[in-house]
Amino acid sequence: MLAENYKKVMREIALAAERAGRDPADIKLIAVTKTVGIEEVRQAAELGITDFGENRVQDAEEKVKALPALNWHFIGHLQSNKARDVLPHYHLIHSLDRISLVKALQRCAEKEGKEVDVLIQVNVSGEESKFGLEPGKLPGFIEKLAGYNRINVKGLMTMAPFVDDPEETRPWFRKLRELRDANAKTGFELIELSMGMTNDYIIAVEEGATMVRIGSALFY
Ligand SMILES: *Cc1c(COP(=O)(O)O)cnc(C)c1O
Repeated sequence: MLAENYKKVMREIALAAERAGRDPADIKLIAVTKTVGIEEVRQAAELGITDFGENRVQDAEEKVKALPALNWHFIGHLQSNKARDVLPHYHLIHSLDRISLVKALQRCAEKEGKEVDVLIQVNVSGEESKFGLEPGKLPGFIEKLAGYNRINVKGLMTMAPFVDDPEETRPWFRKLRELRDANAKTGFELIELSMGMTNDYIIAVEEGATMVRIGSALFY
């Protein structure tokens, strides 16, 4: 079932990319494994999936430590006091949204003699329940980040509101792309757009996603 789901998702990504005149190779699938165990992660890796997403430090710990060769992405809300648990094991943090977290990551990175790659999470829809920076605060936030030499900003991430008709998410994804393009010359090379989940990844790819975070469509 996983193999078939994977094939179907990859085909949908390729078709959406083609519709938008994009190269499907520019879109990375991140398999979100928060609801499955180590065995499923192994099976997914055997199929050729290289990148995996988790949203809770503690729930992920066993998987991440058991399979350290995989590219792990931290996609959930990150508490500053968990920065040091995340830093050594994760390839990219998708949820940077405040300076206190920047400071914690910088401190840990210095201690470990490392740098940390991040995406800035933006709350494009303004939904109260969502984490992320207000779009209007992005330029000022990026400016401040330049003062932290261990933090590399690679792009932006968002979660669209959950709606019945995925087409309704298009304006939010388009907005994230426009924000990336508007802030492209700020000292960091903003390239990545992490957007799109099971319900809406096809729209996200059409609107420029470079990373889609998919759980249910793969594992259920
Ligand atoms: C769970 C989760 C996903 C994947 O959700 P599905 O609907 O299962 O594809 C993507 N992004 C984040 C931040 C998540 O927490």
